[in-house]
Amino acid sequence: MPEENLKPWYDKGLRFECQRCGNCCRTHGDYSNVYMVDLEVARIAGYLGLEEEEFRRRYCARDQGWTVIRSEHPACPFLTDEGTCGVYPVRPMQCRTWPFWEENLRREVWEESVVPTCPGIGKGPLHPAEEVERIARENEDWYQEQ
Ligand code: SF4
Repeated sequence: MPEENLKPWYDKGLRFECQRCGNCCRTHGDYSNVYMVDLEVARIAGYLGLEEEEFRRRYCARDQGWTVIRSEHPACPFLTDEGTCGVYPVRPMQCRTWPFWEENLRREVWEESVVPTCPGIGKGPLHPAEEVERIARENEDWYQEQ
């Protein structure tokens, strides 16, 4: 097989710069759930000045064995009116690594789901393929290792 065919479709890198629209923090079908490991639950609870139990009661749900931010609202409860994240310094890994998730790097997912959701795609600095894949791996490893 020619070497060209072995390269990922994003081999020349992907441009992305957050435009602070808050759209990825609103519910989008499969993208509704924000997963948290126990360490993240503890960090966010501490940041909000809540006991972990109270934080879980107010903001968390369970989904297939995972703790998730409750998504019965049309948006993440921590999305501010200005479109920023109210727990930004302690936001979960999933939020830190958007949009470079392994599942998003399938071309059809990128084009059909990610691009229409995120106006930051195609803007700002070019992220080389190695960096994109490093971020995707970091996200995968974080949740697998917990
Ligand atoms: S959808 Fe994209 S541009 Fe909008 S807040 Fe999320 S990452 Fe930023």
